Amino acid sequence: MPKKAAPAYTPEPPLDCPLCPRLVGFLDEQRDKHPDWFNAPVPSFGDEEAELLIVGLAPGLQGANRTGRPFTGDYAGDLLYPTLLSFGWAEGTFKADPNDGLKLKGAMITNAVRCVPPQNKPTGAETKTCRGFLEARLGALPKLKAILALGRIAHDSTLPALGLKRTSFTFGHNAAHDLGSGLTLFDSYHCSRYNVNTRRLTEEMFHDVFRSIAAHLGR
Ligand code: URA
Repeated sequence: MPKKAAPAYTPEPPLDCPLCPRLVGFLDEQRDKHPDWFNAPVPSFGDEEAELLIVGLAPGLQGANRTGRPFTGDYAGDLLYPTLLSFGWAEGTFKADPNDGLKLKGAMITNAVRCVPPQNKPTGAETKTCRGFLEARLGALPKLKAILALGRIAHDSTLPALGLKRTSFTFGHNAAHDLGSGLTLFDSYHCSRYNVNTRRLTEEMFHDVFRSIAAHLGR
């Protein structure tokens, strides 16, 4: 049998990406139920000249999967975008709508997994399959100096996307890991509603991470 061709990974997956059958099926179901939603791999959002790449987990069903912009339309974005505005990584007004005109300055937001997963939980195989897009995304940012992983899955996917071993860098809130080649990985607990409601992550703790990034980049 001829060997199956490896997928050509680009920084953004095609809107009809076929690589994860379970996620393709879930998107088909959402398309039937909500034909007016985005229902496709959600593209990264932000500045192609980014110094900072923020890596989330995966689109929320009624958030990014509905609106088509990462962290837009769900609770996690209501904490993330105002934080980006107050630390100077964004300009404009955040209205939880992709047409709000908000612009990121020196920053980009992406997700470890680009398609919405059932119950917000991608499988290990889906995360691994989607990692090729993360790798390509990272490789296409010529000014990149810092990465912010929102949660352990983002941390665990970013390291191998850069060819690094997970065991060399332990996830910890507000930890900064020198990855070499002028790149630093910062970790934060994910800014999900669950983490905020249980006070695993407070706004102050989230801001502390952005203060660490600003100090590191001399901003
Ligand atoms: N929305 C996203 O795009 N990513 C997350 O990780 C959470 C919500």
